[in-house]
Amino acid sequence: MDADVVVIGAGALGLSTALHCALAGRSVVVAERGTAGSQASGRAAGLFKSVQADELRTRLARRSIARAASFGDWAGVPLEVARSGSFLIARTAQHREYLARELAQSRGWGADVREADPATVAERVSFYRAVREEFALWCPEDIYIAEPTALIEAYLAACRLRGVVVAENEPVTGIPVTGGRVTGVQTAGRAITAPVVVDAAGGWVRQVAELAGAPVPLAPVRHQLLITGPDPGIDPADPIVRVVDAAVYLRPSRGGLMFGGFEADPLPLDPRQQPPSFTTDDLPLDQIVLRNLAAQVSAEVPAAGTAPVAEHRGGLFTMSPDGRFVAGPVPDLTGLWVASGCNGSGFSSSPALGEALATWITTGAPPPGMAALSPARFGTLPDDALIARGLWQYAHYYDPAPAGQPETVSRGT
Ligand SMILES: Cc1cc2nc3c(=O)[nH]c(=O)nc-3n(C[C@H](O)[C@H](O)[C@H](O)COP(=O)(O)OP(=O)(O)OC[C@H]3O[C@@H](n4cnc5c(N)ncnc54)[C@H](O)[C@@H]3O)c2cc1C
Repeated sequence: MDADVVVIGAGALGLSTALHCALAGRSVVVAERGTAGSQASGRAAGLFKSVQADELRTRLARRSIARAASFGDWAGVPLEVARSGSFLIARTAQHREYLARELAQSRGWGADVREADPATVAERVSFYRAVREEFALWCPEDIYIAEPTALIEAYLAACRLRGVVVAENEPVTGIPVTGGRVTGVQTAGRAITAPVVVDAAGGWVRQVAELAGAPVPLAPVRHQLLITGPDPGIDPADPIVRVVDAAVYLRPSRGGLMFGGFEADPLPLDPRQQPPSFTTDDLPLDQIVLRNLAAQVSAEVPAAGTAPVAEHRGGLFTMSPDGRFVAGPVPDLTGLWVASGCNGSGFSSSPALGEALATWITTGAPPPGMAALSPARFGTLPDDALIARGLWQYAHYYDPAPAGQPETVSRGT
């Protein structure tokens, strides 16, 4: 079988890249080890966030919001989004300062962000009760997709409309290289010839790149959330709430509340050190982590820690040393590209990131700013340093960076 582009992995990043390559007129095959969206993407909270740590990510995030909200217009397939808006809340002086900085910064980068008084938060959010002095930002652009599989289904349908072949249960087992160029992929059942191969294998991105002998510096780290049982006191029209000093996020879900957060001592997990059959279903989950995070907002959102749990799920983030996406051509190996380094926001950034990557692949020129996401930017980094930096990024998701490291804060979900 031949194609212009083979994408490895049918998660949000792989499918968006495939769709946009097809929209640019390329023939595309997606090879997926299991089923589309079965790993990180199908377990995401579905949150989109316009406030980001730098201008490029703000641009990608806002473009993604616009593209998700208008999916039917450009992709020809309906997609329902909740235009809920979101509150960012800080309860400490340090985090208040931090949000004030984000307000100025994000506005400078074009995002619609406004200071909100506590009365507005109380009026708009049924599940959050302010008990101390707080500082809040209102982000009207923010949206969520109630069930993450809806975005995957929409990408799949749009891909099929454009003739993309999505081959499920077809793991890639080899990436042949001839004279410094990749020539396609070998799957469990066949060879697919293509001049361009995109590694969008999520938590497995390193081992897939290693099939071509390429190092990709990413550290997979566990992330979890829970959904409480239905509660008539929770208004399904409520906005998203992120309490930055507690590193937690909340939104209405299935009549209950979705609650997730970022622990200070996260769990790295490298699928390369697991049995070959390892999938996200084998990831050890730990509800105590979420209960401890919920305790930090127990006065404001008692339900987060006490309501019966209807679903507890988790998956792997791919954390990069600087908290930014890893997307672009692999150095010294013509034809191999990476779409990864989600740092917790690969689901919500997938519309714009896939679009930008496809433009780069099909025109040969990186769209403005994208060259900064090159997989080459870290040089060679030993694994322990890579993991330590990835864990730091995860643990400081909503936190100020220490002095001298302002650019290393990662904030997505
Ligand atoms: C609990 C949780 C909540 C989250 N919440 C949000 C959120 O609110 N907003 C947000 O933006 N992000 C969120 N994220 C992060 C988001 O899910 C990821 O950034 C995103 O899904 C990454 O997409 P992906 O395509 O890189 O990876 P994946 O969805 O994991 O897809 C990779 C695919 O590659 C396949 N694959 C692996 N090896 C091979 C192989 N050898 N051959 C073929 N295929 C292969 C896998 O089977 C998999 O389907 C959350 C993540 C978790 C776990």
